[in-house]
Amino acid sequence: MIPRTGLPWQVGEWRKQLATAARDAEELLRRLDFPAAAIRRLLPAARAAARDFPLRVPDSFIARMKPADSADPLLRQVLPLDAELAATPGFVTDPLAEQAAMVAPGLLHKYAARALLVTTPACAVHCRYCFRRHFPYAETRGQADHWRAAIDWLAARPDMEEIILSGGDPLTLSTARLGELLAALRDIPHLRRLRLHTRLPIVLPQRVDEELLALLASQPWPVTVVVHANHPNELGPEQGLALAALRSQGITLLNQSVLLAGVNDHADTLCRLSTRLHECGVLPCYLHLLDPVAGAAHFAVEECRAQALYHDMAARLPGYLLPRLAREDAGAPGKTLLGPAG
Ligand SMILES: *Cc1c(COP(=O)(O)O)cnc(C)c1O
Ligand code: SF4
Repeated sequence: MIPRTGLPWQVGEWRKQLATAARDAEELLRRLDFPAAAIRRLLPAARAAARDFPLRVPDSFIARMKPADSADPLLRQVLPLDAELAATPGFVTDPLAEQAAMVAPGLLHKYAARALLVTTPACAVHCRYCFRRHFPYAETRGQADHWRAAIDWLAARPDMEEIILSGGDPLTLSTARLGELLAALRDIPHLRRLRLHTRLPIVLPQRVDEELLALLASQPWPVTVVVHANHPNELGPEQGLALAALRSQGITLLNQSVLLAGVNDHADTLCRLSTRLHECGVLPCYLHLLDPVAGAAHFAVEECRAQALYHDMAARLPGYLLPRLAREDAGAPGKTLLGPAG
């Protein structure tokens, strides 16, 4: 049954938006009304840096940016810069050593009782700081049924209780394809929880349509959707509607963000992010330190400054709106949690 949520967009409308996402810096800067001189200044570096990891931004995310402002915190997350081309010691292509955790094509097992499936290489937006920007996606697919080996591995491991669908972004799959995957996972009796890590409700809220809601509502397990927003400006009225619709289906909503220099490295911004998420029915879960991926060093915030910021947040927010400050260490069985510096 298709739930009646009163969403103002049509089923499947998101596909058009995905297809018309900006894929070139000039197009992006023009849509933001940058003057011609500013475009000429920013363009060469943006095009050079995009050769390694292409630019991609959907209109609904562009719409949340301030026009003609190169310091806009949303634009900074997606606009390729010269700084990406500089090699920085310690910043590498596979900062989390994920290749070592791959137990079947696309299936990563690094955490107890849970496994993470890289369902698709596609994302609706390309975040310049992404720790999977160099992930060898081509090696994880190829065959028509590339999930088969992952599903067989999970079925043979009764200690696996939770499956995390990640990517790329699992919600860039069609609802039908996602439905096929969920049907195969449902046949594994020891799986008890389903989690999706997705940025789509934030960057392309129309992805949350009635067909998707019906699919998620029909699952036998508790479903958790972990979204990814870094700045309160990302959460406008449409994002609010999409998140409320997910909540109305009984889905638990959490957020993870990354602490990014020049985007959200102020206690005030992060406190506003937490309270805005709460208004949208989402609890902040993690505030990650940047993973040291090559090309993203200019987003790094020193750990001692991160802890000082976090100390400020802890003094201002109720406990349930304070995310956990965490760092991923390659090879560790879980995150390393960092407390506030006193
Ligand atoms: C931490 C993390 C996970 C696992 O989350 P838990 O809360 O530790 O279960 C999965 N994917 C990414 C990208 C993470 O950062
Ligand atoms: S949406 Fe997530 S996986 Fe995709 S580029 Fe952004 S951070 Fe990376």
